[in-house]
Amino acid sequence: MRVKCGVCGLAYVRKFRFFRAEKFRFLTKYSGFGAQLKVILYLFCRKMTDYMAQMLNELMGSQRDAMPGERRELRFDDPNVCTDFLVGFCTHDIFRNTKNDLGFCKYTTHDENLKNSYQNSDKKGRMGFENRFLERIRRIHEDVRRKIQKHEDRLAVTQGESKSAEETFGMKIQELELRKEQLTKKVEDLMDEAAVEGEKGNVAAAQTAVEKADKTKFEIEELGFEAEKMRNEKERAISMEENVTAGNRQMQVCQICGCFMLQNDAPQRVDDHLTGKLHIAYQLIADTIKGLEHEMEEKKKQRLDERVSSRRYDRSRSRSKERKEHKKDHKERSEHRRGEGRDRGGEHRDRHRDRDHKDREHHRGDRGDKHRSDRDRRVRIV
Ligand SMILES: [Zn+2]
Ligand SMILES: [Zn+2]
Repeated sequence: MRVKCGVCGLAYVRKFRFFRAEKFRFLTKYSGFGAQLKVILYLFCRKMTDYMAQMLNELMGSQRDAMPGERRELRFDDPNVCTDFLVGFCTHDIFRNTKNDLGFCKYTTHDENLKNSYQNSDKKGRMGFENRFLERIRRIHEDVRRKIQKHEDRLAVTQGESKSAEETFGMKIQELELRKEQLTKKVEDLMDEAAVEGEKGNVAAAQTAVEKADKTKFEIEELGFEAEKMRNEKERAISMEENVTAGNRQMQVCQICGCFMLQNDAPQRVDDHLTGKLHIAYQLIADTIKGLEHEMEEKKKQRLDERVSSRRYDRSRSRSKERKEHKKDHKERSEHRRGEGRDRGGEHRDRHRDRDHKDREHHRGDRGDKHRSDRDRRVRIV
């Protein structure tokens, strides 16, 4: 059935919607140009519909289709809400239309009002959104750090190669110069020898020395030619390398986005790079990581301080409570003791009285016994 797309107005075949991927492949492979075109049109329309829906969501919010009465309050942890956007920014947004485009965000709601209400709510930092966001942007940051390192290594290698070529030619030329100096000395020695032999009258020896010196001079000349040749070759090699690695020699790596930049480039081009979307995105990520880490550190400290102060408060409270209880106990005990003391005093007095009484009785008893014994004795005597 041929229907018209509600968004872009293009016609597409509805039945293709229910086809599986294999059938699509079959259609595009074995059917005619018409069917292929239909499939392409359908896919294009579907892509366009998604794109337009995304655009409308961004412009009018995810509840654009809801009737005025149907609008419900969005929750921060709604499955359609992009939590990265609530915390800071959506990574899909900042890289859009750059060479590192991440495509569309799978969460449809990127609501500025919701973001503001989240930033001002007391739930901020308590729903775990910050950690997730930080983890995601840290991964991107690490990727770009690796890219920067790779590009720097590449530059170092190309520059190192050109240096080594220069060095090898330089070494060869130095060797030739050294040999030339040695030979010049040898010629001088031979000429001296020839002069000495000539003075002595050894004409033959002087002649051989002169011949040797001539040979050596010839060698020196040859060495001179060779050195000259080497110098020319060196210059040619350097110019060739300069041509080949002309860019690399003056290149540098941007420490934010990892792109190659020309050293001492025109200010306009440098400005263009610094205001480029990719550079700004990576700069934003680096700044946000720093800011969030600082914020989290501060919160951690604050929480620790709060915990310590609450512990202190608890301790002081418990101490004062203990002190109060202790005082209360002490008071009670002292009152009790006083009461006890009074009682015990009475008891003591009673006991004392009893004892006195007993003693008296005892003494009396003793006396009685004595009297009794005296009486007994008297009776016995009588
Ligand atoms: Zn998003
Ligand atoms: Zn950059």
